[in-house]
Amino acid sequence: MTAQEVRAAGAYGQEPDPDVLAHNYHPLPVTIESAEGAWVTDTAGRRYLDLLAGYSALNFGHRHPQLVDAAVRQLGRVTLTSRAFDHDLLLPFAQRLSALVGPLTAGGADGTMVLPMNTGAEAVETAIKVARKWGYDVKGVEPGAATIVVGSGNFHGRTTTIVSFSDDDDARRGFDPYTPGFRTVPYGDAAALRDAIDDTTVAVLLEPVQGESGVVVPADDYWPAVRAITAEHDILLIADEIQSGLGRTGTTLASELWGVRPDLVTLGKALGGGVLPVSAVVGRRDVLGVLTPGTHGSTFGGNPLACAVALAVIDLLATDAPQAAARELGKVLHARLAALVDAGLLVRTRGVGLWAGLDLDPARGTGRDLCEALLARGVLAKDTHGSTIRLAPPLTISRADLDHGLDALTAALEELAPPAA
Ligand SMILES: *Cc1c(COP(=O)(O)O)cnc(C)c1O
Repeated sequence: MTAQEVRAAGAYGQEPDPDVLAHNYHPLPVTIESAEGAWVTDTAGRRYLDLLAGYSALNFGHRHPQLVDAAVRQLGRVTLTSRAFDHDLLLPFAQRLSALVGPLTAGGADGTMVLPMNTGAEAVETAIKVARKWGYDVKGVEPGAATIVVGSGNFHGRTTTIVSFSDDDDARRGFDPYTPGFRTVPYGDAAALRDAIDDTTVAVLLEPVQGESGVVVPADDYWPAVRAITAEHDILLIADEIQSGLGRTGTTLASELWGVRPDLVTLGKALGGGVLPVSAVVGRRDVLGVLTPGTHGSTFGGNPLACAVALAVIDLLATDAPQAAARELGKVLHARLAALVDAGLLVRTRGVGLWAGLDLDPARGTGRDLCEALLARGVLAKDTHGSTIRLAPPLTISRADLDHGLDALTAALEELAPPAA
């Protein structure tokens, strides 16, 4: 029975009850049944070009043959051991990820450690725990006093601790009491960051480019200034590269854009190749080394299936082909978006690599309106806040498909109500 027939019949002979699903999302009205590359197909057989790519979890497109092949082969071997036992892909995974990302961190080629987890939020939680423990055990911060400086407009996940330092009212309100120990400073303002630092500060946690906030790229001097300040005060710089990392910006890490090597990076999303959740904290061995058996863990972290897929992801990234595609196609994307600004169809755009945030004149409509107009034209994208939408096509998209998506964007923008004269 196809999913379509199940829906028609009612699952298990019952009338479908849409209210059985919690209301924590407001998806566009499309029900996807299958996908390949940059394209998805819905239950009615309509095809859509995917310009969201799972918020960058699908950097290599849907069902990339090498990634599916790695998963299928591993399904025939062993899928889960728990960390109570070792398995034959765990060390290779750590070694290969360390070889790819370690030299881009302050850990360097020989001093890098890898800690595997599953979701992005878990990787961020891990980095927070490690930074606090490092602060007490190594830096000598007074017990219970550790603080971490974060940026306004941040998005680092959905756990109670992480939403404690969000400034998005929807993400935060009603989920108190909040975890203490975080200080928020305006993102992009290095002087404010310096002022927020004191003897209790153990880490600065920032996205090199803020994805959820609408693809906010800081000024070129910001990230180097943050690195200089944190180094001067012996404070850990934690780069949340969960969305910005692994090819999206045309580099393996976004931090590379400014020649900055963070002490720790969090990776997620694309690390699982769009097949399953895989995340990790990668960075200085003398920092991650504060963890000892029993102090942290995860039942599924570093499981054999996850390692098999992530190893195949690392193979793809080691060729530099995804990064090169993001650089080349990114030029096309940003040139065409700039033309839409010139034509008065967009207020402004931001971005780097194959990644863009688009601000629509609110008088023309909301981001949601634009996404619905795109959906009607067979293109999937997602609004972030208000009149902003984000484009993050798979890095494997063809030039022709990218042009097709941008043609649809142009037409959708022309169709939305023009601003009142
Ligand atoms: C998506 C995201 C997270 C959270 O990842 P999940 O896998 O959804 O928990 C954290 N940080 C950033 C920058 C993200 O984009």
